[in-house]
Amino acid sequence: EQKQTINFGAGPAKLPQSVLLQAQKEFLSYSGIGISVLEMSHRSADFNKILNKTESLLRELVNIPDNYKVMFLQGGGSGQFSAVPLNLIGLKEGMCADYLVTGTWSSKAAKEAEKYGKVNVVHPKLESYTKIPDPGSWTLNPSASYVYYCCNETVHGVEFSFTPETNGVVLVADMSSNFLSRPVDVSKFGLIFAGAQKNVGCAGVTVVIVREDLLGHALKECPIVLDYKVQAEMNSLYNTPPCFSIYIMGLVLEWIKNNGGSAAMEMLNKQKSSMIYDIINASNGFYECPVDVTCRSRMNVPFRVGKKEGDEALEKEFLAGASKRGMISLKGHRSVGGIRASLYNAVTLEDTEALATYMKEFLKEHQ
Ligand code: PMP
Repeated sequence: EQKQTINFGAGPAKLPQSVLLQAQKEFLSYSGIGISVLEMSHRSADFNKILNKTESLLRELVNIPDNYKVMFLQGGGSGQFSAVPLNLIGLKEGMCADYLVTGTWSSKAAKEAEKYGKVNVVHPKLESYTKIPDPGSWTLNPSASYVYYCCNETVHGVEFSFTPETNGVVLVADMSSNFLSRPVDVSKFGLIFAGAQKNVGCAGVTVVIVREDLLGHALKECPIVLDYKVQAEMNSLYNTPPCFSIYIMGLVLEWIKNNGGSAAMEMLNKQKSSMIYDIINASNGFYECPVDVTCRSRMNVPFRVGKKEGDEALEKEFLAGASKRGMISLKGHRSVGGIRASLYNAVTLEDTEALATYMKEFLKEHQ
């Protein structure tokens, strides 16, 4: 039976229907073995098969070179805000790192890194998180241990359409909210991490992809569960991993593969986001997206309703009307207000069309 509700949530977010059905089918007895994945030992042969399958699908879909390790860790994207400096800030003697701060998530990451070393924000502080400062204006520090950025700022809808050039300094990216939404050249990065609960699964597991030569530089105060060298050598099994979340990720990766991989996801995501941005652009300011056109996110489309700063009463009405049509979780993040439509991989073209149709009707009724 098809679900009627359309979930535009920013994460945890919609999962493909076929994945949920598969998980339901296997819930009580995985692959005929008589127990649930929830009940399995993480050291059993059955779980090992799940873990290895998930890793090999990920390697295939993201095209991960052999000199990179893949880990499935707990602690979420926020856990990685600490794990990155704890593992990498000691790469060079100066104990400093460069940060691009283009929204809430990179700002939080930079604050966390300040606990462990010197943080250099490479561009003038942004008044509002609506654009990416021109790379020509960045002052990168050649002796920084790494350069950190957030590829897609989920709250503000600001997405990089290019990979920052760091002149040989290790590049670290938070791809939590646009992982596998488009092809990526992993070889340009020292480290990529992504929480699963937006594009590749459910909460509980965070993927870390790290170049092998960066392992083994952790600070002595690094908690062992966050130590990349330990976790990489133990194949993410130093302690009990988030088994069920890894299993769900495996199912989602299979679904991505069956649907054409990252290139196909990118085509669809372009189509979906353009559909919504086109309506915003053609609305004569009734809908307003504050983000510069060069860095509008394909994953999270934020907009105000009514006038530039938004008309809160009208936005409430917009949300109530959406909810009546079964479209939920469209409220913008509490720090920015307004509306936010998250269009992750599992959100279909039809789902997006339903929102587009509603936006056009709402505009007609209220302009
Ligand atoms: N980075 C980004 C880009 C995010 O969107 C989020 C969560 N929305 C996080 C990090 C933090 O993830 P978590 O809640 O899993 O710690």
